[in-house]
Amino acid sequence: MVTKLEWDVIKKRGCAVCGKSDVAVGGLEKAHLKAKSKNGTQVIPMCPTHHKKFDKGLLKDSELEKIGIDPEKYKKYLPKKGSGTSKPKTAIEEYEKAQKETAKKMKKANDETKKIFGRRLGLI
Ligand SMILES: [Zn+2]
Repeated sequence: MVTKLEWDVIKKRGCAVCGKSDVAVGGLEKAHLKAKSKNGTQVIPMCPTHHKKFDKGLLKDSELEKIGIDPEKYKKYLPKKGSGTSKPKTAIEEYEKAQKETAKKMKKANDETKKIFGRRLGLI
């Protein structure tokens, strides 16, 4: 962790991505880079918007380069994505997902029916 004094110095640089100042964003946040084996925990200032993006893995390669992070390493820092997280976790989520898909199918079928009958009735 950084001391308050260190943090005050670090955050003077503004958001590591967009450069906005502490005041401009209503308080810069401490974004944690994965601890490097040598120098331990590293903290960089980020505005709330970019901090969220950073944690979710949504920063672009060009933005990562600005911070000085290797995009390849960045991907490794993030929690694993893929089949595990995209699958519904609970029965309720699974049900909701199925419901959404059914609703989509029904809408499509409905639209087609309307088209057919509309043509037949001379509406289209
Ligand atoms: Zn920013």
